[in-house]
Amino acid sequence: MPDPLFLLQSVFGYPAFRGPQEAIIDHVTAGGDALVLMPTGGGKSLCYQIPALARQQAGHGVTVVISPLIALMHDQVGALHEAGVAAAFLNSTLSGEEANAVEKRLQRGEITLLYAAPERITTPRFLAQLDALHALGQLGLFAIDEAHCVSQWGHDFRPEYRALTVLHERYASVPRMALTATADALTRADMVERLQLQGAQQFVSSFDRPNIRYAIVEKQNATTQLLRFIEREHASDAGIVYCQSRKRVEEIAQTLCGAGLRALPYHAGLDVAVRRANQDTFLREDGVVMVATIAFGMGIDKPDVRFVAHLDMPKNIEGYYQETGRAGRDGEPANAWMTYGLQDVVNQRRMIDESPAGEDFKQVMRGKLEALLALAEASDCRRVRLLGYFDESSAPCLNCDNCCNPPALWDGTEAARQLLSCIYRVQQHSGIGFGAGHIMDIVRGKKTEKVTQFGHEALSTFGVGAQFTELQLRGVVRQLIATGALAVNAQAFNTLELTAASRTVLKGEQPVRLRQGAEATAGSKSRTGKAALQSPAAAALDRTGQVRFAALKAWRAEVAREHKLPAYVIFHDATLAAMAALAPTTLADLQGVSGVGAKKLEAYGAELLRVCALPNP
Ligand code: ADP
Ligand code: ZN
Repeated sequence: MPDPLFLLQSVFGYPAFRGPQEAIIDHVTAGGDALVLMPTGGGKSLCYQIPALARQQAGHGVTVVISPLIALMHDQVGALHEAGVAAAFLNSTLSGEEANAVEKRLQRGEITLLYAAPERITTPRFLAQLDALHALGQLGLFAIDEAHCVSQWGHDFRPEYRALTVLHERYASVPRMALTATADALTRADMVERLQLQGAQQFVSSFDRPNIRYAIVEKQNATTQLLRFIEREHASDAGIVYCQSRKRVEEIAQTLCGAGLRALPYHAGLDVAVRRANQDTFLREDGVVMVATIAFGMGIDKPDVRFVAHLDMPKNIEGYYQETGRAGRDGEPANAWMTYGLQDVVNQRRMIDESPAGEDFKQVMRGKLEALLALAEASDCRRVRLLGYFDESSAPCLNCDNCCNPPALWDGTEAARQLLSCIYRVQQHSGIGFGAGHIMDIVRGKKTEKVTQFGHEALSTFGVGAQFTELQLRGVVRQLIATGALAVNAQAFNTLELTAASRTVLKGEQPVRLRQGAEATAGSKSRTGKAALQSPAAAALDRTGQVRFAALKAWRAEVAREHKLPAYVIFHDATLAAMAALAPTTLADLQGVSGVGAKKLEAYGAELLRVCALPNP
């Protein structure tokens, strides 16, 4: 078998393996099955690309990569071509003629990596192709990317993935590996069962993304908060803003454009051509903000996304972690920022309650939502909680909002008791439930029209909490819902209802500790300055280095345009920054730079030396 380290260095230009890559690659190259859990940016692609090269060279044939990401296959294959690897894809974007050509190359053994969508795997035509290869012993490996899609418990269930059982049934002797960045214990177990990977070796990496700073802020005026966040920390950076609805995506994209940012919308309601154009712009140009629903992002491997913002709360921690994980794949500092408010809680509860799913399923989903709510309300380290959710223990990270600016806490026990007993009295008095706004008005002693209409100022709880602000009470309501001590009835106008768990709070047996609301902390400046987010490699360059870096980037942009590929596929920023610092004068100098493999050296070496020489007098 060819040496994996030699392949890493000569083909991809990287000096050493990262973390568990070597163990995984050795295992799979030798023909073992594997389940790989590695965070986004951890380097999963090489875990099947290097075995693909090694197995092909050893005469075992092609590696078939199953990926749901048709829109990205072109770039993935393009990146491999740049590195001199024979790769191709088969999907619905190809014409019949193009597909035929790929099939011919496949049968001639000219392809090392073939990317295909799961729905293609089960077509008779494709199966016939695989059968033919199999008969010749030329099916080397199946790599199932985004493998969590096979599980309905995951956040991105794709029914087409279920058909992948055909792989182990029909080609039992061909090694299989499944890869994913996000799967909690339940999803993981389901994945193993669905893909029949009980015998596979499991490689579970730490899920930590230490370069991402997590912050969750209380929602007040979300749009203004978002604008302030971007202006303060990410004025010219690429980022993704997630919103819940298509309508909101459109509005926010417009607002950001109005504020002078380059923002584009992305959601499933847009024309396919528009979606593709916007995605291409985001991938190919610098400093674009993508405002999107969760329809956007899976498989987006743009390394320099500097922030991911959530204007609305996602469904669960897996979704949140997957989406925020799209920031900072290059390992440089990045921000994950979310605004979250009572309405988010109510909306998510309602979506679960109103979904047509069975009660068992809803119960699981409620549990997952509660875990996310607890994260949002937490006053201790966000990362400890996030990793804890994936069964990983850790120490406070010193790189999240709560670690950097420990929130002041206040004792909301009394306010919580007042709210709960008010809900009880109102129900008793009027025989119906009411929403959070009205309940808070009663507790604070506000004589609104509605209060008068229902005679609620006569209640003993009217005005008992006059000393609390509305913001404080909102925080208490949210926390009570998050901990299950209060329920929102989505079937009855989002009215608040007591639960079995309300009793301990009512009796004062369970203290309620809350983060001091934004009122108290609004003035406090974030500690991340713009400087902290600049790439260290680029920031460390001297004046000439900066000029050289800029020249290299301009050169790269031109090459990328010519090759119809995103710039980072040609070279990463970090690679260009290293060149700018080194000021190479010979091909041998260049060869030592991380990210410069043999093919790229051959294709671009001379030009790079010319560009690097420019700024020097
Ligand atoms: P994932 O699929 O796990 O999210 P990728 O495979 O896209 O991650 O890898 C993330 C980035 O890290 C890529 O730009 C890749 O080129 C780079 N990378 C992966 N492995 C190594 C390595 N051993 N040395 C240097 N860079 C690496
Ligand atoms: Zn922390």
